[in-house]
Amino acid sequence: MLTVRAALDRLLNAVRPVTATESIATLSANGRVLAAGQGATINVPSADNTQMDGYAVRAADCASGNAVLQVTQRIPAGHVGQPLAAGTAARIFTGAMIPAGADAVVMQEQCEAAQGGGVVTVRHAPRAGEWIRRTGEDIQAGATILTAGTRLRAQELGLAASVGLATLPVVRRVRVAVFFTGDELTMPGEAPGGQLAPGAIYNSNRFTLRALLENLGCEITDYGIVPDTLAATRATLRAASQDHDLIVTSGGVSVGEEDHIKPAVEAEGRLDMWQIAVKPGKPLAFGEVRQAFFIGLPGNPVSSFVTFLLFVRPFILRLQGVAGAVEPRAYTMRADFDWPKGDRRNEFLRAHINEAGGLALFPNQGSGVLTSTVWGDGLIDNPPGQAIARGDMVRFLSFADLQH
Ligand code: AMP
Ligand code: MG
Repeated sequence: MLTVRAALDRLLNAVRPVTATESIATLSANGRVLAAGQGATINVPSADNTQMDGYAVRAADCASGNAVLQVTQRIPAGHVGQPLAAGTAARIFTGAMIPAGADAVVMQEQCEAAQGGGVVTVRHAPRAGEWIRRTGEDIQAGATILTAGTRLRAQELGLAASVGLATLPVVRRVRVAVFFTGDELTMPGEAPGGQLAPGAIYNSNRFTLRALLENLGCEITDYGIVPDTLAATRATLRAASQDHDLIVTSGGVSVGEEDHIKPAVEAEGRLDMWQIAVKPGKPLAFGEVRQAFFIGLPGNPVSSFVTFLLFVRPFILRLQGVAGAVEPRAYTMRADFDWPKGDRRNEFLRAHINEAGGLALFPNQGSGVLTSTVWGDGLIDNPPGQAIARGDMVRFLSFADLQH
C-alpha cells in the first residue's frame, strides 16, 4: 500500500499545468491564478498624507503644548493645499496630502477652534512626522507586489488595485468533467412518486464534489449519474475526455463485478489503481483518457470527500499553475479525547474545535457518516498505528483551509 505522501508525490509529479492564459478585469479575478508577476509603477501612498482629521502644522510651532495658530487653508482628501507658512495651521482631513512646510498633524480632539475656525489652539506638542503616512511606506515604485502562480484572494486583488492594475493576466480556468457511478443513485427531487425506492440512495457525492470543484474555481461539466455498465462508462469517458483537463468520478473503483471504472478507463486510456494506506479512502484510480487526466474517487461519501481534499485539491491547484504550497496546512493542536488503538492505515479523523481550544472527536468515524463532516471543523491526520491519549498534540487540517 502507498503512503499518503507517496501517492500525493506521484500525482504532483504527473501534473502538466495549464499554460493558456487570459487577461481579465481585476474586479473579476477573485480565485484565479496569476500568470505573470506584477510590479508597481507608483509609490503607495503616492504622497505624504494625513491619517487623522485635524490640523497640519509645523511641529516646532507647537512645542509649547498651547500654541495659537492662524488657520489659513482647508484641505479635504483629494485636494492639494498651498505651502504652509510658519505660525499657521491647515485644517486637514484623513487622506489629504500634507502641504509643503508642514511636518506633523495634530488630531482635532487635541485642538480648539475659535473665531469661526479662523484660529486654532493646539493643546499638544507633536513630534515631527506624527500622524503622517509616508510616501511609499506600503509599496515603492518598482517593487514586485505579486508573483506568478499566486492565487488571487481579496487581499491580492486589493493590493493590485492599489497600484492601479485594472486587468491581470491569469491562467485559464481548469476544465473538469465529473460523473457518478451507481445504479442505486437517485437525485433529490427525482425519486419516482417522491419515494426513495428500496435499495436506492441519494446521490450526495454530486453535491459535495460539485461544491468542492466550484470552490476551486473550476469550469465544470457534470455528466450526472452513469449506469453501472462498461459500455455506458466508456461512452461517458470518451465524451468527457474532449475539452477537459481532468475527469473526476465517484464510485465503482473497487474491483467487484459491478465496478466498471477500471476496465473502462483501461479501454479508453490508461489507469493505475492505487491502494493507499488511508482511512477513509484506500482505493484511488489515477490515469489519463486522451489529453485529460483521470481521478476515480471511492463512492463512500466521507471517503470521496476526504480523498478529494487530500489528493484532488492539490492536483487541481497545480493544474491551475499554483506555484506555492498546495498541500493542506497542518496545525498542531491538543486532543481532548482518547483514541486507544490507531488503525494500520493513516487515519483522517473528523474532529471539532471545542471551547477549550482543543479537539473533540466525532463518535462515529464511519466512511458513510456525512454528519461527521458537518459537525467537524477538520481532520486529524493520525499516522498509522498511532494511539492518541487525552492531552497529546496532533496534526489538524482545517476544513476552512481546504475548501477554496
Ligand atoms: P462504490 O465505490 O461504488 O462501491 O460505492 C461505495 C459506497 O458508496 C456504496 O455504499 C454506494 O452506495 C455509496 N455511493 C456510491 N456513489 C455514491 C454517491 N454518488 N453518493 C452517495 N453515496 C454513494
Ligand atoms: Mg458502485
